[in-house]
Amino acid sequence: MPLLEGPVGVEDLILLEPLDEESLIKNLQLRYENKEIYTYIGNVVISVNPYQQLPIYGPEFIAKYRDYTFYELKPHIYALANVAYQSLKDRDRDQCILITGESGAGKTEASKLVMSYVAAVCGKGEQVNSVKEQLLQSNPVLEAFGNAKTIRNNNSSRFGKYMDIEFDFKGSPLGGVITNYLLEKSRVVKQLKGERNFHIFYQLLAGADAQLLKALKLEEDTSVYGYLNGEVSKVNGMDDASNFRAVQHAMSVIGFSEEEIRQVLEVTALVLKLGNVKLTDEFQANGIPASGICDGKGIQEIGEMMGLNSTELERALCSRTMETGKEKVVTVLNVTQAQYARDALAKNIYSRLFDWIVKRINESIKVGTGEKKKVMGVLDIYGFEILEDNSFEQFVINYCNERLQQVFIELTLKEEQEEYKREGIPWTKVEYFDNGIICNLIEHSQRGILAMLDEECLRPGVVSDSTFLAKLNQLFSKHSHYESKVSQNAQRQYDRTMGLSCFRINHYAGKVTYNVTGFIDKNNDLLFRDLSQTMWKAQHPLLKSLFPEGNPKEASLKRPPTAGTQFKNSVAVLMKNLYSKNPNYIRCIKPNDQQQQGRFTSEMVTVQARYLGLLENVRVRRAGYAFRQGYKPFLERYRLLSRSTWPPGRRDRINLLKQVDGFLGEMTFLFNRAACLDRSSQVSIPN
Ligand code: ADP
Ligand code: MG
Repeated sequence: MPLLEGPVGVEDLILLEPLDEESLIKNLQLRYENKEIYTYIGNVVISVNPYQQLPIYGPEFIAKYRDYTFYELKPHIYALANVAYQSLKDRDRDQCILITGESGAGKTEASKLVMSYVAAVCGKGEQVNSVKEQLLQSNPVLEAFGNAKTIRNNNSSRFGKYMDIEFDFKGSPLGGVITNYLLEKSRVVKQLKGERNFHIFYQLLAGADAQLLKALKLEEDTSVYGYLNGEVSKVNGMDDASNFRAVQHAMSVIGFSEEEIRQVLEVTALVLKLGNVKLTDEFQANGIPASGICDGKGIQEIGEMMGLNSTELERALCSRTMETGKEKVVTVLNVTQAQYARDALAKNIYSRLFDWIVKRINESIKVGTGEKKKVMGVLDIYGFEILEDNSFEQFVINYCNERLQQVFIELTLKEEQEEYKREGIPWTKVEYFDNGIICNLIEHSQRGILAMLDEECLRPGVVSDSTFLAKLNQLFSKHSHYESKVSQNAQRQYDRTMGLSCFRINHYAGKVTYNVTGFIDKNNDLLFRDLSQTMWKAQHPLLKSLFPEGNPKEASLKRPPTAGTQFKNSVAVLMKNLYSKNPNYIRCIKPNDQQQQGRFTSEMVTVQARYLGLLENVRVRRAGYAFRQGYKPFLERYRLLSRSTWPPGRRDRINLLKQVDGFLGEMTFLFNRAACLDRSSQVSIPN
């Protein structure tokens, strides 16, 4: 019975002696080296990426975890998923599973384990199974279009994902809703050395048969395409061709028609082909530099596939129409500007395609509004990133992680301690770092960095990344979590590592230096109107539908919100959603930077444990009570255990509630700290 073997180290850090950082890390290491990758802090699961397939998953294990209570078996994500699902079902409490950690720490794998566990235990029957299949099959589709190989992770999610799985009163799945966050669209046209574009491009070229390639006017060889980094076309252990078949299968299970799948692939192919549109210098009669397309065949094919006249397409790529009052002025673009326009178009087509795919999946899995639903949310969002060169994308990703850390602090460190204080329980405060100050620095509606960026983007006159930086420097030079060359020059030691176009934020998870180059542009996220109007004229139905603003009748002069503001708003909605549910945490840790199995780098883990606040988490959990529940749901669930509350007879519920205090006295032995500290005192509660 491998499941019941003796523990290695302590399975719950609450039992750790002595309780300090060194022994915490040593305990994780000892367990990791014995292939015990999961450890608890109370009901929080810490997961250390094994970088190898361990024999602890699948139906046999799911069946075990389903039948036992939380502390009876070894720590596992299944146990957490089980508790979340059971309390959703029995206690009617919406749940959310919050999975955090750096890029490559194992979040996406953890989210898939949660989903597969829940799918395996919830409900039966043909109808239910088909809902489950649809929910599960959304993963390979979104991963193909939204994941890529990066230096840190061969299958890195380049978008944020929150999925609400909805259940009926019996706990059978009805469907779900997926929300996606800011796809890293700059990757479509450019990747760092050693990284790839989104998987789907390679899958398509490797997996499509000759007939499909011909229809899409593509060549199999990845090195032909300017948007695909020639040096890395393959990823170890990843079979692009068979993944392509899996994606096509998944799309049809979800409910995409054959026609829809074909159109999605056509749009994907168009993006690749756009990258090969060669632009050259041309000069107008008056000597002004202009641009033109030198590869006639390429643009011809793109035009045909889009259902557009290629001359019109060329015009849209190489010139720009400005409207001043009633007059229209056409200016020609030089080569650099035209290349910029081409790349902007490719990025826009791809990211809108991605949004469309999410929308399409949601159409298939959505649940009617009339039904009463119970909800389990699973959040798998990009982890904290510190790269060599950090740009706008890292800035918003890290901002999102700051907000998630806030949820954790609020719900596990702050609220719990405040609750004890409120209830008059003697309590020595456990100190922790509250990152609210950093969230504020970024998101404050008038004085935050995002607000400053918007102000620069919308301000008339000459604006540039450097005027934006100057503004930040002026405002924040004294902020304890902000640094720049200027503020450093003035107050601190000269720092050679920071460029003139950079600022640095001291995040909860470490210092990150951001280069402002491109911030204004990425935040503006504007596509020349000529391009959106041309795309809207395309005959290709899917492509056309991606550019509704190109319809002259719909054209609005109102500026859409900036990318930063949109992101901030969607993060705010997400936070509201998370705070309304009962949180369950999976804290993922990355044991080394080489994606290597069995290798535990203490220094790296220490840094992560520190910023995740694991030690503080243990301290609060250990000093606190293992079980806390509101009186009313507690009574509802356990009243049948006491003679004074059961049977209820004719007494009304108010009377019952009055008796609850005495009842609690009877029951506390079940729930005091000892229950958590001593396994043998675990008492199972009859259902
Ligand atoms: P993240 O989403 O945090 O960036 P992933 O979940 O994509 O990280 O994990 C990165 C890689 O680590 C995976 O592709 C897989 O190879 C490995 N990995 C993560 N978790 C596990 C696990 N539980 N078992 C085996 N391998 C894992
Ligand atoms: Mg991921």
